[in-house]
Amino acid sequence: MRSSECQKRPSFKCAGYMRLFSRLFLQLVCFSTISIVSSFMTPADYAELHRFPKTTPKPRAEFPRWLRDITKLKSWPGEYPPYIESAKVDLSGIPIGPQYKLGNACDYGSNICSFNCDDCLGPNDIMHCGELVQSFDDGPNEETTQLISYFNQAQKKVSFFVVGLQVLAYPDIFQSEYLSGHFVASHSYSHVYLPSLTNRKIAAQFQWSIWAMNATANVIPRYFRPPYGGLDNRVRAIAAKFGLTPIVWDLDTDDWCMITNSRTADEVYADVKQWVEDNQTGIILEHDLTQETVTVGIEISKILGNRNRTVTADCKIPGAPWYA
Ligand SMILES: [Zn+2]
Repeated sequence: MRSSECQKRPSFKCAGYMRLFSRLFLQLVCFSTISIVSSFMTPADYAELHRFPKTTPKPRAEFPRWLRDITKLKSWPGEYPPYIESAKVDLSGIPIGPQYKLGNACDYGSNICSFNCDDCLGPNDIMHCGELVQSFDDGPNEETTQLISYFNQAQKKVSFFVVGLQVLAYPDIFQSEYLSGHFVASHSYSHVYLPSLTNRKIAAQFQWSIWAMNATANVIPRYFRPPYGGLDNRVRAIAAKFGLTPIVWDLDTDDWCMITNSRTADEVYADVKQWVEDNQTGIILEHDLTQETVTVGIEISKILGNRNRTVTADCKIPGAPWYA
């Protein structure tokens, strides 16, 4: 199932957030990264290189008056948003746990229940699903409109885990996802590896992600997917303070590896077909990141056919509300 070159690298559950680079530059970076990784780089070094682009998408959404009043700020923050104290959120009682970088060895023991390190699930985490579910991370992007058009025409509902800064950069596309009846949930504010952050910075990622979704589409999410699968008990506890339940995945398509030419679309399709044959159910992780991944997402939908019936929020408790 996991045989691509990408899979041989350190265990990253989600690569995304890199579409703003030109394709040529992207390939240069990725090819050199692959060759370097195989020689002498540590996973931590790789993680640092992997956090590209360094540029932050420019928010186009208005910074609303109510948010000015709450935050005393005048504009949307960038990649490192400040945590804004609130009487509604009490950050005490969060379990003490290590802060660790993406790509570091994950030898912190089972007590932190890390998803990306040990495949550990918390009692409320949503992973398995009684249906086949397509889910798309890291958008919205311009290419997302193709998915929305396709799925609307096909009368299928899918799940979008959105990055706050992308929501602010493409508020109209985010509104279109939501108003079309697709499931939208948080994928953090700036796509950071949450276990590497302090409690307050993790809280800020949730807080600003919610505000971005609320300000642009008047929706408050009840679910989130951690970037890179970075989920442990500390992250879970802070997310719960914001009413957010984690959703992870069963099948990682590694579709993003196509962007670095280290995986082909046919390999992705073969894995999906094998998965469907073996399992018939499950949450499938994809990305609405580039033209390649969007095209593959549409083809995967055709592979699934009518078996793609629901969205991730319905996986654990069918009929439970999607939003606050
Ligand atoms: Zn992601």
